[in-house]
Amino acid sequence: MSEWVEGRIQTVTHWTETLFSIRVEAALPAYRAGQFTRLALWLPGEEGAPERVAHAYSFVNPPAAGYHEFYIVLIPGGRLTPALHRLQPGDSLWLAAQASGFLTAEELPDGDTLWLLSTGTAIGPFLSLLAEGALQPRYARVVLAHGVRFGRELNYQTLIRALQQATPDWLTYVPFVSREPWAEGLSGRIPSALADGRLERVVGAALTPASTVALCGNPQMVRDTLTLLQARGLHKHLRRAPGQICSENYW
Ligand code: NAP
Repeated sequence: MSEWVEGRIQTVTHWTETLFSIRVEAALPAYRAGQFTRLALWLPGEEGAPERVAHAYSFVNPPAAGYHEFYIVLIPGGRLTPALHRLQPGDSLWLAAQASGFLTAEELPDGDTLWLLSTGTAIGPFLSLLAEGALQPRYARVVLAHGVRFGRELNYQTLIRALQQATPDWLTYVPFVSREPWAEGLSGRIPSALADGRLERVVGAALTPASTVALCGNPQMVRDTLTLLQARGLHKHLRRAPGQICSENYW
């Protein structure tokens, strides 16, 4: 198979002025929940000749969905995201055939509670994993924490509610809003709420070396949370040295 597969936009959802999701039809080879591929468009290059501009995006859908969905933030002044933001149903784009990434059910180590800690659009791979259903037999509980700047950025609520209703005693969702008061959820940043115990208090469970943690999002959030968890005796999970923490910087 060639490196790139042409896809066609089925739907575009504009959640806010900068956050949007695209659903794409494309004949991709198999991939795993939690993985990412690259999306590309042909855009005018410096000399005017078109060139393929690509960026990595995680699948939000479970692999069996029959479509491929991506959750994207518009980066003002960026090259690719303004063009992705203009896409309409029926338009074509390119997807890298080979998916990558290790935030998958197979790669996550066992533990009692699985803590999925994300910011911004990086909630996507966790939604894919939860919708796939492979985590349920593996962990006694799952906590999905999602940090955003403003309450209106807490998207995918219908899906999250459906997942919670399907597994009410198993999945706990904790939204974080950092830049305005918000009645539901916690205020501030995820690492602060871990440091002062607020996250564990609202969840009603302790994050210990018996837990498993997956981090995905703002590279600084990933770094800060990793430092905090390492001070609590958790380690990065490597194939040659098993630990408790898997992580992916989202940009
Ligand atoms: P964000 O700035 O990462 O904000 C999301 C949440 O993460 C906010 O609640 C923020 O808190 C929090 N956060 C930031 N630094 C943190 C840290 N060190 N520890 C813990 N939490 C932290 O991202 P966003 O709102 O989703 O997107 C904003 C911009 O990020 C975009 O416009 C773009 O420039 C960039 N971005 C780029 C890409 C890419 O692929 N190139 C992808 C996503 C985002 P505070 O409000 O306290 O900062």
